[in-house]
Amino acid sequence: MNLSYELSDLEELTSNVKQIQDDMLEEILKVNANTECLGRFFHGSTDKESFKNNVPVVIYEDIKVYIERVANGESSNVISGEPITHFFLSSGTTGGKRKIFPVNDKYFEKKIFSEDLRSSILSKHINGAKDGKVVAFLNTRPLSKTPSGIPVAPLITSFIMSDYFKKRSSKCYASPDQVILCTDNNQCMYCHLLCALVQREEVVSVFAPFASTVIQAIKFLETSWKELCSNIRSGHLSEWITDLGCRDSVSVILGGPNLELADLIEHECSQKSWEGMITRLWPNIKFVQTVVTGQMSQYIPVLEFYSNKLPIISMNYASSETLLGINVNPLCKPQDVSYTFLPNMSYFEFQEEGNNDEIVDLVNVKLGCSYEVLVTKHFGIYRYRLGDILQVTGFYNSAPQFRFVRRKNMVISVFMEVTTEEDIMKALSRARVVLESSRLILVSFNAPVECCCVMEESFNALYRGFRNKDDSIGALEIRVVQEGTFDYLMEHFISEGSASASQYKTPMCTNSPEVLAILEDRVVARFFSDKTPPL
Ligand code: AMP
Repeated sequence: MNLSYELSDLEELTSNVKQIQDDMLEEILKVNANTECLGRFFHGSTDKESFKNNVPVVIYEDIKVYIERVANGESSNVISGEPITHFFLSSGTTGGKRKIFPVNDKYFEKKIFSEDLRSSILSKHINGAKDGKVVAFLNTRPLSKTPSGIPVAPLITSFIMSDYFKKRSSKCYASPDQVILCTDNNQCMYCHLLCALVQREEVVSVFAPFASTVIQAIKFLETSWKELCSNIRSGHLSEWITDLGCRDSVSVILGGPNLELADLIEHECSQKSWEGMITRLWPNIKFVQTVVTGQMSQYIPVLEFYSNKLPIISMNYASSETLLGINVNPLCKPQDVSYTFLPNMSYFEFQEEGNNDEIVDLVNVKLGCSYEVLVTKHFGIYRYRLGDILQVTGFYNSAPQFRFVRRKNMVISVFMEVTTEEDIMKALSRARVVLESSRLILVSFNAPVECCCVMEESFNALYRGFRNKDDSIGALEIRVVQEGTFDYLMEHFISEGSASASQYKTPMCTNSPEVLAILEDRVVARFFSDKTPPL
């Protein structure tokens, strides 16, 4: 298998989108036509036309029973013509429930492909992007198994535990594999930071799948830098790092006592302001690579604050169901990121927002229109609603490029209006301006009373209309929660097994009684908007 990919592959892929997509659908149908899950929709021919006419568009609940049958021990053939070797556990924290998705090694091969491509694109745009260490905030959680013995884990954990990760060609991480493989989140994070600080001169970039993890790492550093410095000064790793893999490998990197380095880091971290801390700690860093689109966009201002306006690069768009797209213009502003869809990942279809009748192929999407993505792939997922809404922003050769707009189910409706995740993000960025002028930074929803009004002003006309009319919608309320509440929420999701730290996304909207109780318990102040928004 050739696992080294070049930019010429990108040109070829994006120039032959229609052919690649049609061939992929043909192959998927050939391999899976006799499965119970898909076969029931075909009577004879299994060509593209019968697929489009007969196979229904589904959501997870429609296919869950088939997936669970395989998880519980029935043959993979119920859902897939190829053996299922893993199940990916989606975080389910973006509004849905926990889901498991069947996969096999093909997914990992595609992941390696997209990572190599990502790295070639970065090298093209940033000199020396590969010439140093990457501080990669990656971690794993313990694998579990289905009753039939198939491993179940979040995508990142599954990948890291696979041979594909062990055998990867480039070993550029500042942390040894033993740290990444440590399933204790605190020990893992501590060791990542220690390795990153000890090798500070060699670090060229910081990487985390999602921006929230970079912020978590900085918060962890805020509470542990004294201990980290003391380890560097003495050359001894703290005793609470009991994971043997971490102890052995990190002790080697730590080397002996290094007083000078400890003093330097102590000097930086004890400054009152942590502005630019990322560039202060890692003087040769060139960029931060992490997803800052969709709900992660809330972290852009904080990241910019810590990184002294280094490029913040959002390279790929992926989910437990499939890999989707890659950013071919990495140095664009975080707000302007679009992902070019890769036609060799899955067979993609698109349903235009508000138009349930028309489903179009990847090559037929129209500039400016918004669509929900439907995914068909090799194992068990056919015409599946991903739940993400994307807008076409352009084309790279014949491959469409999409801006991530929002999760489809992330909406709030108090009366008859609809307030989407995107509306909330916009309202939050306006509220942030209010806070910035009072020199506070908004992390999640901490906000004083003025923000209530500013947020309401920026909601759509329907909301403002109902808000003005007969109290159909009451005053917007902001409840300020104790510091650390959102971290607690994340730990809660991780400990009860539904999320891994690397893939965790703070829910933007929730009606889970459990989550609401956690938040409610920690409310320290409440604010209401004191005027109705202008119509
Ligand atoms: P999970 O399967 O738990 O990793 O979650 C996948 C979901 O995360 C996707 O369906 C998106 O909603 C979101 N996501 C992944 N990558 C991006 C991205 N680059 N920009 C915005 N949202 C993303």
